[in-house]
Parts: sequence; C-alpha cells; structure tokens
Amino acid sequence: MSDKNRTSETNPGHAPSWYAHSANDKTVRPSLEGEHTADVCIVGAGFTGVSAALQLAENGYKVIVVEGERVGFGASGRNGGQIVNGYSRDLETIARRYGPERAKRLGEMSLEGGRIIRERVARYDIACDLVDGGFFAAFTDKQVREMAHVKAHWETHGHTGLEMVSKAEVGKYVKSDRYVGGMIDKLGGHIHPLNLVLGEAAAVESLGGKIFEQSRVTGVDMGANPVVRTAKGRVTAKYVLVCGNAYLGNLLPKITDKMMPVSSQVMATEPLDAKLIEELLPANYCVEDANYVLDYYRRTADNRLLYGGGIGYGGQDPANLTGVIRPNMLKTFPQLANTKIEFAWSGNFALTLTRIPHMGKLADNVYFSHGDSGHGVTTTHLLGKILGEAVAGHSGRYDVWSSLTALPFPGGKTFRVPLTVLGAWWYGMRDKLGV
Ligand SMILES: Cc1cc2nc3c(=O)[nH]c(=O)nc-3n(C[C@H](O)[C@H](O)[C@H](O)COP(=O)(O)OP(=O)(O)OC[C@H]3O[C@@H](n4cnc5c(N)ncnc54)[C@H](O)[C@@H]3O)c2cc1C
Repeated sequence: MSDKNRTSETNPGHAPSWYAHSANDKTVRPSLEGEHTADVCIVGAGFTGVSAALQLAENGYKVIVVEGERVGFGASGRNGGQIVNGYSRDLETIARRYGPERAKRLGEMSLEGGRIIRERVARYDIACDLVDGGFFAAFTDKQVREMAHVKAHWETHGHTGLEMVSKAEVGKYVKSDRYVGGMIDKLGGHIHPLNLVLGEAAAVESLGGKIFEQSRVTGVDMGANPVVRTAKGRVTAKYVLVCGNAYLGNLLPKITDKMMPVSSQVMATEPLDAKLIEELLPANYCVEDANYVLDYYRRTADNRLLYGGGIGYGGQDPANLTGVIRPNMLKTFPQLANTKIEFAWSGNFALTLTRIPHMGKLADNVYFSHGDSGHGVTTTHLLGKILGEAVAGHSGRYDVWSSLTALPFPGGKTFRVPLTVLGAWWYGMRDKLGV
C-alpha cells in the first residue's frame, strides 16, 4: 500500500509508523492564529528546526517554531533511528573537493552531532531508547578495503571508536551469512527518533519557546523584520530559519532547486521472541550495509526488527511499501519468513548533488539548512546548533558550511529525477557485480 495519504490510527497527523504508535506524547499542539512576535521564527519542527530552537532557547532567545503538520512529522520522526557519525561523503572526499582547511574544520565537527544528542538526552532526561554502537556491514572485500581506508583517514581527524571486523567476527554483531566483514563505530548507536525530537521540543517549551503544529507556512516576507505567514497567523521576527527540508515544497524555489526529495521505506516486524532477536543482533548495534542503495536495520526496545531500505527519487513511494524491503530482510534473515510485518511507512529526505548539506542565507536575517542526504540524525543536530550560533553572532562555523558550494541538479526539475535514477542504477550495478 502506498503511504502518501495514510496517517497513524493511534497518532493522527503522523505517518503510520511504529514510532507514531509508540510515541511518548501524542498531544496535539495548537495551530498558529493571529499576530505574534519572536526573536527567531523557525519553519519546520524536525531535528534541524528543533535543534536550532533549543540552542537559541538555552541562550535566552524568544523562539517560535511553526510546523506544518506535527513535531517530527518529516524524516526526523520516521527514520531508521541510526546515529551515524560523519557525513554522506567521507572526509578524504571532502578534502579533495573543498581543500584541507575546510576538511579539517568538518573533521573537528564530525562527531559532534552524536555528542549533542547524548548531551541533550542526559540534560533533559529524554526517554528515547538510546543504545550505543553501530556496525557497517560489507558484502565484498572491496567494501572492506574501502572501510579500512575511511577508518585510517578518519583517525587522523581524531575518531577513536572505529574497529575493523573480520568475517569470523561478524556474528558478534549480526547473525547473517551475507557479509564478509565490516567495521564498528562504538560512537554510533540508535534511538527512537520521534521520541527524541518530541523530547527536544518539550525542552524548548520548558525554556519558554513556543511550538505551533498544523500551521503550514505559506509565505516568508523578507525585510528588516521578516514575517512568516500561515493561513490564520503571522510571526514577525528578527530572524527566520527555514528548516523544512524535503517537505518544503515550492515555498522558496530559490533553494529547493538545489535539493531533491528522495523517499526511503521502513517496516517493523511484530515483537520477536527475546532469544531470537538477541540471536539476530547480539550486540544490539544498528547495522547499515555498504551498498549504494543500502539496507539499514536494528532492534527496537520492544524487540521488533526495524528494517529500512529502498529509494524513490523525487520522493515517489513504491506501490507496495514492503515489496522491496521485505525480500531484502529475508535475504539477510531467512529465519523470519513467517514473521508478521506490523508497520510499514515511507519518508522523504533531501538529497543534494554533492551529498553535502546546503546551508546559507536568503537575506541577511533569513537562514536555511537542508540536504543531509539520507544521513542526517547527527548532522541535523550539529547544523541546527550552528544556525543558532550564527543568529547569536558566532558565525565562524556557519561560514565554513555555507562556503561549500551547492550545485543545482542537472536536468532541472524535469530531468533531475531520471538522470539521478540513471546514476543510481550505475552504482547499483557496480555493487551487484562487486566492482
Ligand atoms: C525513511 C528514512 C530513514 C532515514 N534513516 C536515517 C538513519 O537511520 N540515520 C540517519 O542519520 N539519517 C536517516 N535519515 C535522514 C534523516 O532522518 C534526515 O536527514 C533528518 O531527519 C532531516 O531532518 P530535518 O529536520 O532537516 O527535516 P524533517 O525531519 O523532514 O523536518 C522538516 C519539517 O518541516 C516541516 N515543514 C516543511 N515545510 C513546511 C512549511 N511550509 N511550513 C511549516 N512546516 C514545514 C515538515 O512538516 C517537517 O516536519 C532517514 C530519512 C528517511 C526519510
């Protein structure tokens, strides 16, 4: 079944995910009505927007977050929940593209997103099932060599949590005979992402910030005091931060031609027998494989297997959400042939041509950040914080990120999808052939 018009039965307004079903707080916030003022108005209550809001609220700013649907409605409340450090491109590629100085700065920040999550979970006592440890699984010796190379380079930037895993040791992390080895990141991990963003949103409110839901922003008027408009209300602010990511639509076409919505699908099995799930994932690490179109999976706190994969360029969902990922799950774990799938959903992330997030300004007082390219649980936390720093006048780190050139997709809005599909097909073939 396609996801586009489905909503959670137990938590309306959210995708029909296991996360929406098991959210700690299902209260709907009021929508924006009438005139409001703020120091900073933030469009979008995903990780980026809420991270920025928290950074600002902690520093005494009056913030208003305006969310079109529900807090965590977008990718932040539907993702694989994997805390993956670094960026969608490795630091060596970043050095080649942007030079050693900027690679050094990005290297220094490459573990910070994960640290921010852990600090906030501890400070605000957020119940989001945080577990440490991630495993990158390799299908081929070539992928193992590439991981070893990434590890060696990342260690020059100070990462001390990486360890290579031999074929004989794979079973410590995942009981599947698909893999020939891999790498662990002890500083990786996993969380219930919707409960994380809900906990962070509650922290913003505890510091005096306001969050409105079901209030789609229909326009941003630039000026000395920019105005954010919805159907029934307006916020006049000193600064606006646009954090709508793949769900921004055509609100601000100047920035959306440099990112493309891409869908990925996730499903959750029924709760498994504790012994079985421990056998499948003994260390309780999250797993992502090394293919171009990758599978990612992990245990949940209630012993389900949460399995994601598949890809839809342009944000299209497949007609049958489990059609691709269930067969992949069974290749990994044939022992689950008779296991029921209780939840299946889809979500969109924002892809950039460079696979590096795009951060910048539409005016002196209107900032944006998006395009974490499928690898955003940690980077959104980092970049939201950096947006907050920039507003507070500490723009050093913002300057580094905003200096990374963003390119429009070749083919414009009409041909960007088929051209990207072609590129992905090519990389997918290379994975299949192991070259
Ligand atoms: C299925 C899936 C699995 C993923 N798995 C992982 C993973 O395991 N690990 C990882 O690191 N990354 C993963 N990602 C990527 C990661 O989830 C995203 O990079 C990250 O959550 C993006 O956060 P965000 O705040 O920028 O955007 P979003 O979370 O999408 O938030 C944007 C918000 O803005 C709102 N909005 C948009 N336009 C408007 C408007 N006009 N008015 C008001 N509100 C608006 C939306 O409703 C939405 O709530 C995954 C993504 C998907 C889709």
